[in-house]
Amino acid sequence: MVDTSKCPCGNDKHYKECCEKFHQGEASPETAEILMRSRFSAYVKKNKNYLLETWHSSSRPKPEELEFEGPMGFRWTHLTVVKTEEGKESDDKGKVEFVAHYKVGPKAGQMQEDSNFVKENGKWYYC
Ligand SMILES: [Zn+2]
Repeated sequence: MVDTSKCPCGNDKHYKECCEKFHQGEASPETAEILMRSRFSAYVKKNKNYLLETWHSSSRPKPEELEFEGPMGFRWTHLTVVKTEEGKESDDKGKVEFVAHYKVGPKAGQMQEDSNFVKENGKWYYC
C-alpha cells in the first residue's frame, strides 16, 4: 500500500508537515528546490492557484491555459531532484534539474527538465 498521506514531493514527510503550509499560503519556500518540490505536489493536488502564484509574471500562463488533464489514466507519481545550482536562501536566482515521474495506466514514463527560478521581494518564483 502506498502511504497517501506522504507528501507527493518526495521529501519523505507527511503532506501536513511539508508542502501544505506553502499551498495554504502560510509560509513561503526558502529555497528554489523547496519551491520546485512544492510545485510538483501542487500538480499532484491540482492546486491551480498555487501554481499560478509561484509562476513568475514574465512566463505565467493564463489560468485557462493551465491544464491538469493529461492522457487517460495519467498521474504524476514522484519527483527526483537531480541537481541544484544556487537557489539558496542567500541567492536571488537558481536552477533545479529534476525528473518528474508519471504513469499512464500501468506504463511508467518520465520528464526531465532544467527549471530556472528567481527570487523577488523575498519569494521564489518559477520562470
Ligand atoms: Zn512536500
